[in-house]
This record gives sequence, C-alpha cells and structure tokens, in this order.
Amino acid sequence: MILRPKVRGFVCVTAHPVGCAAHVQEQIDYVQRHGPIKNGPKRALVIGASTGYGLASRITAAFGCGAATLGVFYDRPSEEDRPATPGWYNTIAFERAAKRAGLYARSVNGDAFSEAIKRQAIELIRDELGPIDLVVYSVASPRRVHPKTGVVHKSVIKPIGQSYTNKTVDTDLGIVSEITIEPATDEEIADTVAVMGGEDWELWMQALDAAGLLAPGATAVSYSYIGPAVTWPIYRHGTIGLAKNDLERAARRIDALLKTNGYGRAFVSINKALVTQASSAIPVVPLYISLLYKIMKAQGTHEGCIEQIQRLFSSQMYHGNALAFDEGGRVRLDDREMQTEVQRKIVELWPQIATETLGELTDIQGYRTEFLKLFGFGLAGVDYEADIDPHMIF
Ligand code: NAD
Repeated sequence: MILRPKVRGFVCVTAHPVGCAAHVQEQIDYVQRHGPIKNGPKRALVIGASTGYGLASRITAAFGCGAATLGVFYDRPSEEDRPATPGWYNTIAFERAAKRAGLYARSVNGDAFSEAIKRQAIELIRDELGPIDLVVYSVASPRRVHPKTGVVHKSVIKPIGQSYTNKTVDTDLGIVSEITIEPATDEEIADTVAVMGGEDWELWMQALDAAGLLAPGATAVSYSYIGPAVTWPIYRHGTIGLAKNDLERAARRIDALLKTNGYGRAFVSINKALVTQASSAIPVVPLYISLLYKIMKAQGTHEGCIEQIQRLFSSQMYHGNALAFDEGGRVRLDDREMQTEVQRKIVELWPQIATETLGELTDIQGYRTEFLKLFGFGLAGVDYEADIDPHMIF
C-alpha cells in the first residue's frame, strides 16, 4: 500500500508506519544526545503513552533514565485497507527500540477509564514489573464511559457563562475566519470534568496503592495548560479549564496518598502549547500555536514535546532539588511561552492576522509540517513512494 496523508478537518485519517518509527527515533535520539538523567525512575507506568506528551514521557523515562516502562493507550490496529492509528505504530517502534536497548517495555491497549484495563495493567505490574516509582497520567480523550455508573460522558471545548468570538484557522486550507462558540450547559461542564478532570488519575493511583504496587517515594505527574489571555475564554476559563482545576485537586489528593507511603509526591506540570492530536481539535488554539511557533523559533526558544519533557525530567523531577512550584503548586514548563516579550508580540500581532497575512505573520507551514509528522508523514529519510505493509502487530 502506498500511504499518503488524508487530512479531514483536524485529523489525518492515515498514518505511515515507517514515518512514525522515524518520528519515535528522532525523539529517542534527542534524549540520548542529552545524556543519562541520574536518579531517574526505574519502573514507570505511562497512561496515555502512545502520542504527544505521554509518548515523550515514556521515551524520556526509558532512554534518558533506563526505566522499564508499561504504556497504556487506546489505539486502533490496521484494518483490511486502512492503516492503524499513529499511536499503534509509535508504540511498536518504541517497544522494538527499547528491546534492542535491553529495556523492559510492555503495553496495554484499551480504555484506561475501564476497570478491566486497570486490572490488566496491575496484573502485569505485579507479575513482571514490580512496584512503580513513576506514574505519568497523560490521557486526552473526547469521551469516558464511567466505570461505576456506565454513563457515557462527552467532553466539550466551550466557554462558560457567555459566548466567545475570536479568530480561528482552518489549518489545512489556510483560511482565517471568525468563530462564535456558545456557552456550555451545566451538564456539558460536568461531563467535561468527568472526562478530562482528575477522577480517573485518582482511581489509577488508588488501585495501584490497594495492590501494594507503588514504590516508596513514587512520583505521579499529569499535564495541564494555562496559556495567554487570548485563549482563556475557550481554555483556562472554559469547560476544559474547569476540568484542569479538578486535575489539580486530584494532584493534591494523590500527593497526600503518596506521602502516607513514604516521601512520594504528585503534581501537575503546566506545559507549552504544542501541535498534538488533542490540541488541533480546539478552536482558536491552532492559530495561536502557529503565531507562537513563529515568535519562539525566531527567538531560539521553541520546544516540542520531547524537549519539554526531557527538560521536566532533567531540570525538575530528577534534578536532586525540590520542584520549583508556582503559587498554585504547579511546575511551569510554559515559562518560555509565557515570557513577557513573547506574549507582547502575540498581543501586537493577533489583530493583524487574516487569511492574507497568515503565511507571513505566523508559522502555519511549521504547524502543518508538525501536524503531518504526528501521523508519520514528512520525515527525512523515509521513502514515501515505497509499497508499505500497514499490518503490524506487537
Ligand atoms: P495526545 O492526543 O497526543 O495523546 C493522548 C493519549 O491519550 C494517547 O496516547 C491516546 O491513546 C491516549 N488515550 C486517549 N483516550 C484514552 C483512553 N480512553 N484510554 C487510554 N488511553 C487513551 O494528547 P496530548 O496533547 O499529548 O495531551 C496529553 C496531556 O497533555 C493532556 O492532559 C493535555 O491536556 C496536556 N497538555 C497538552 C498540551 C498541548 O498543547 N498539546 C499543552 C499542555 C498540556
């Protein structure tokens, strides 16, 4: 099969296995170039491990710290005439590279919100891996079947209290237009908190604790975003922002749980806005990211997922010092994005962005390149004319 990108709105419905493997290898190479991270985790569980920040966390734990890793994610294998999702190919590539490097790597593919997948992961940890000293919770999902009630909760990205109008971009067509998003209902707010809040992270930690599978001194981390005022109505002050407040609530509860087990800790890291499958689905944000990339690349401060997470591990989590928290008890990996000079330029240029100025004022081309890379397209050294067998299994 000759595989080409097929972009439909904010998703690409095809993925390239060789390109995904090259993307994973790029990230492994980055971590290895930066040398070993001393005193890192030995046995890491990464939930949401197949793409984006979770995959970068798994790669850093394994190739930066030499950790054995168990990855949990929800991906679709290939079908008769359809390639698998990128997370499927990424994980196969990761596992192969880990095994070549002599590192334990196992994966559980299925719904992390369910009790069955938690049980499966816990059995693997008990039988093969041993007590976990790092849990990364990096799930981004549009829906959750609640494990106790069976209710299906669907998350929405909407403002709260009043409608919100701003510019957005169709990243594929390069058309800037105005979008108005109506405020969420109370039910939509509650549903979004149920999907993207902290309850499931707590359930994972409680299940691990009950099974006696948390090592003394274990660390648990999850990721969030704050961003600038231009996105607050749709992000920080919107439905997803309330869910992220709930994630911070969960971090405090998990921190208390880990402290009863020794000197453990749990916290939320506020990461930079980046092109991932999750962020491309949020209105306004891809336009902001395109502008941000232009400014940060010109400044030489641009980072991707792997740069962010390698920095989190090497300069914060395993640096030997106390974590540098902000006033809300969060680690700030978005420090470079939020620099006054960067945000001053965002505020100055935002009103000038239109379809006609998009190419000149923003890094829309860089956005598109990064977006296609998420699906394994556009990587150097990959022969995209080659006939590829898309059917791969673990
Ligand atoms: P992503 O879409 O790249 O990754 C999501 C992961 O979750 C994938 O591995 C996917 O398989 C997994 N997943 C989804 N539903 C699942 C389910 N039901 N069961 C098991 N696994 C499931 O997303 P991302 O952007 O890396 O987001 C990860 C976290 O980082 C989120 O909490 C997000 O809010 C946060 N974050 C993202 C950004 C950004 O700009 N992308 C910035 C700051 C924080």
